[in-house]
Amino acid sequence: MNVITIPKPHKVASVLKKHIPFSEEEDDDDTSTVAIKTENGTQTKFGKGKGKCISNGIIQKYIKQIVPTQKPKKRKVKLMDWKKYHRLNVIYEFIDELERDYPAICTVSVIGKSVEGRDIKMLKISNSDASNSAVWLDASIHPREWITTAVVTYIADMIVKNFQNLSNSITNKDWHIVPVLNPDGYEYTHTHDRMWRKNRACYNGEFGVDLNRNFSYGWGNNGNEGSSEEPNNIFYRGPAPFSEPESTAVRDTILGSTTPFKVFLSFHSYFELIIFPWGFKKEPCKDYLRLLEAGTAMARAIQETSGMTYRVGSTKDLTYYACGTSIDWSYAIAKIPYSYMIELRGRKHRFKLPKDQITGNCVEIWNAINSLMNYIDNH
Ligand SMILES: [Zn+2]
Repeated sequence: MNVITIPKPHKVASVLKKHIPFSEEEDDDDTSTVAIKTENGTQTKFGKGKGKCISNGIIQKYIKQIVPTQKPKKRKVKLMDWKKYHRLNVIYEFIDELERDYPAICTVSVIGKSVEGRDIKMLKISNSDASNSAVWLDASIHPREWITTAVVTYIADMIVKNFQNLSNSITNKDWHIVPVLNPDGYEYTHTHDRMWRKNRACYNGEFGVDLNRNFSYGWGNNGNEGSSEEPNNIFYRGPAPFSEPESTAVRDTILGSTTPFKVFLSFHSYFELIIFPWGFKKEPCKDYLRLLEAGTAMARAIQETSGMTYRVGSTKDLTYYACGTSIDWSYAIAKIPYSYMIELRGRKHRFKLPKDQITGNCVEIWNAINSLMNYIDNH
């Protein structure tokens, strides 16, 4: 008797029954009898009996119709790398694949939907130890800052693929990584306007809220100096705090976590800075010295890695008033003690960092993050 083992679908035998007139009576002596064995171990035999006879060839023909013999088409999605900047589908396929390949430590979830209905995906990396603290990394809240997504996906890749060999200060954290916090804007920078900064909400006929001015703490302070009430302005803060689904997704995920967050890193470009609260006022926050010290530990690691100099200080020390930022909210309301905005490379090329600098920026930030985690575990 011939035995044909076929792959999915498991239901092929019952499908065959619908299509072929046959008897299931067993006749092991008859070489035209065929047993169809599916992957889940069920076996159905087809052969002649009670006057009905089907040949091996007919069954093969039906199997070919139901179970295509050619291999599945190659995935259309391009593979992830850090040699160039990628579209949203490549980024999302990359984290989905990490989850498939490393299910013991990786979970991908959708933490919200953008204005245009795109998924906001988050990769969580954790060994599920109950004593872990949580770390937040987000990128592309400002979508033209493409290098940020490249860097956080690199961090994810390093943690997941080297998990067994990394220091405790990395593996004793629950990593929450949102590679593209503003997916509508991110796609828009690829398809329409490379310099787009805001999301794609529409107010009074004007597009876009600056999501990093839409958080509640200090929202709207300092009039038009720290954000704008005009929908056509690049710093438009939105009609109300958390009016946007993208900022709301951050709030709900962090406040809904059962693991306390210790670190919040929001990535931007291109000023090469390590920034901590406050942004909405010039007075130092109560943890100014600790934040300065830990920030300096990161800056030192960067300098030792690549020679790049990142300056460290509060938002107002280094730039200008910024009101309604995610780090003022994460520090003040979510009580995350190490809240930083990291402005990546590069001053020379601004938002269009050449792709041959992606890896260099990734490596220096990976070392900075290691240094920060060490600092935190030792203080
Ligand atoms: Zn930015």
